[in-house]
Amino acid sequence: MLANLAELLQDAKKNNYAIASINTPNQISLRAVIAAAEEVNIPITINHAQNEDDHIPIEIAVPLMLDYAKKSTVPISVHVDHGLDMKHIMKAVRLGVTSVMYDCSNLPLEENIAEVKRLMDLVGHLGIAIEAEVGTMPNNMPDEVHGQERSDLSDLSVYYTDPKEAQIFCEQTGVDVLTISFGSVHGMYEGEPNLNIPLLEQIRDLTPNTSLGMHGGSGVPYDQIQKAISSGIRKINYFTAIDTAPAPHLAKLINEADGPVNFWKLADEAMEIIYEKTVEVLRVCKNEAARA
Ligand SMILES: [Zn+2]
Repeated sequence: MLANLAELLQDAKKNNYAIASINTPNQISLRAVIAAAEEVNIPITINHAQNEDDHIPIEIAVPLMLDYAKKSTVPISVHVDHGLDMKHIMKAVRLGVTSVMYDCSNLPLEENIAEVKRLMDLVGHLGIAIEAEVGTMPNNMPDEVHGQERSDLSDLSVYYTDPKEAQIFCEQTGVDVLTISFGSVHGMYEGEPNLNIPLLEQIRDLTPNTSLGMHGGSGVPYDQIQKAISSGIRKINYFTAIDTAPAPHLAKLINEADGPVNFWKLADEAMEIIYEKTVEVLRVCKNEAARA
């Protein structure tokens, strides 16, 4: 069923788990991710990122996502990931999304606050949940993403969210989700992961009325993700490790085939692998050991 992210987050907080937020840029991903959420029996958000617009325009993606969300047996929020300008976000709102991220994290704090408040004034009364970001998410995407350069990953602390800024931002905007930078990266994590849990807990204690978000779950060991959940993370964006999972298997199938390979067969194989990987990730987000 189609759901409001703010309500999902309340339940996640009460029961110490996290809402996984997964991009579904095609129908294979969409079907696999929703089937996985139904298997694990956990609410999720499905995302369309603004930078995916060249790949699948939002006018095509969102109606499809809404249709699948409505037919699902678990609550699903249809979400704009990394909305970068108001025009795109308003288009998404008219299409019927139930939550949006407005990412003005590259602006100085005061301007970030002003922009997010402007959006809340426009859409707050529609019951649309709002996510924003303070701090910087370093980028290590496997492919070049338009407008995003790879970041220097030698010292992740330079990207960290300032706790005081997070507090000021939440007090002045009242956003539903604040995404913070505390050691994760966009794309695949490389090297020895080291989430800064004390920083997360400090920010959590300063922002008691806001749910905290973590982007870049891929490559972070599951026990560190669960530590982050138990320390207050309520929304986890997770995509690269799910989306890259089918490729090695598909390559093997193609290489070992005697003749032409049907695309529908490859699509079915990919869907099964995305499903299995997503089930695994959602069980981590469900955090059942900590809830028992
Ligand atoms: Zn992100």
